[in-house]
Amino acid sequence: VAPIKTALITGVTGQDGSYMADLLLEKDYRVVGLLRRSSTTDRPNLRHLSGRVELEFGDLLDASALTRILADVRPDEIYNFAAQSAPADSWRQTILTAEITALGVVRLLDAARALSLDPRVYQASTREIFGGVRASVYDESTPMVANNPYAVAKLYAHQMAATYREAYDMHVAAGILFNHESPRRGLQFVSRKITTAAACIKLGVDRPPEDEQGRPLVRDGKVRLGYLGAQRDWGFAPEYVEAAWRMLQRDEPKDYVIATNSLYSVEDLCRVAFERVDLDWRDHVEVSDALTRPTEIAAARGDYSLAKSELGWEPQVGFVELVNTMVDADVERWRRGRAEAVASAR
Ligand code: NAP
Repeated sequence: VAPIKTALITGVTGQDGSYMADLLLEKDYRVVGLLRRSSTTDRPNLRHLSGRVELEFGDLLDASALTRILADVRPDEIYNFAAQSAPADSWRQTILTAEITALGVVRLLDAARALSLDPRVYQASTREIFGGVRASVYDESTPMVANNPYAVAKLYAHQMAATYREAYDMHVAAGILFNHESPRRGLQFVSRKITTAAACIKLGVDRPPEDEQGRPLVRDGKVRLGYLGAQRDWGFAPEYVEAAWRMLQRDEPKDYVIATNSLYSVEDLCRVAFERVDLDWRDHVEVSDALTRPTEIAAARGDYSLAKSELGWEPQVGFVELVNTMVDADVERWRRGRAEAVASAR
């Protein structure tokens, strides 16, 4: 049977890109993933899809590669998940974050325009674009006041996506995504750090994976974290890519907040994760000032009413279930052996 549609996914090795590939393959799409060159060929999030996703080598930094790929692939839908996606790293790689996270989508949109292609395009925006706004709930009409280099880059991308939609009549829709996690979340993010640490401590792993600074994630039975009071609206990643797909199926392109409308702190996440393995988080978590953000974003929930009414989308997985799923997956990986567990921690 011929595939119904062709989709190009950027960031296909990441959390969301790989779940998007799962979803679209289930729907019988032809799925092409954009892969940037790297010195390793280990792609843990894609391993289960071997041979089912076509891979194209390219980089969001490289406009000519993007033009070649779009000309070859001629996608009906483009899902742009690729980004320098870590706010913490954006303070240290400010220009690179702008090049990839801000300008990347413009290179993609320009390539599509130059080739007179008319794909539907999804842009992964973030609630960080509201970072400095003091309000308890954010929705699509909240003023955008980005306050870290990652958020500023994402805000530029968000506004350019909207500008191309309006100026060139392109079908571009952005998901304004609140935090979403899963067993495929990168280890540099706090949720996965905590669930991996809980698993390693519980199992007495003697050589835990390294953290983003190249040090053992667990030292002396403790994991080091930044500000524990930081509150986030945390959802389950596979549900967030379902929302992305629904956005591109609508004839009228529009931006939507995708969230759970509930708030939990990093401390709550520690408590639930360590409870899952019958440990007390207070014995295993240490606060490190070196890991606090120079500017903290305000705590706010996401109001997803528009997505509910127009996309029929609603989150199903609650916070405790989400954290338990992540801890269980990490415990299972470390039980199976170090090689597999370390390889899964991108
Ligand atoms: P992720 O796991 O960090 O994945 C990022 C992806 O981008 C990886 O596949 C990475 O490839 C790729 N990439 C980075 N630089 C690239 C470049 N120059 N050219 C091509 N590809 C490049 O991120 P995620 O959690 O899935 O998030 C997906 C998107 O949603 C991101 O844009 C993120 O900023 C946004 N977002 C995420 C959240 C969240 O809570 N997860 C919330 C709001 C918005 P490598 O494997 O080669 O590194």
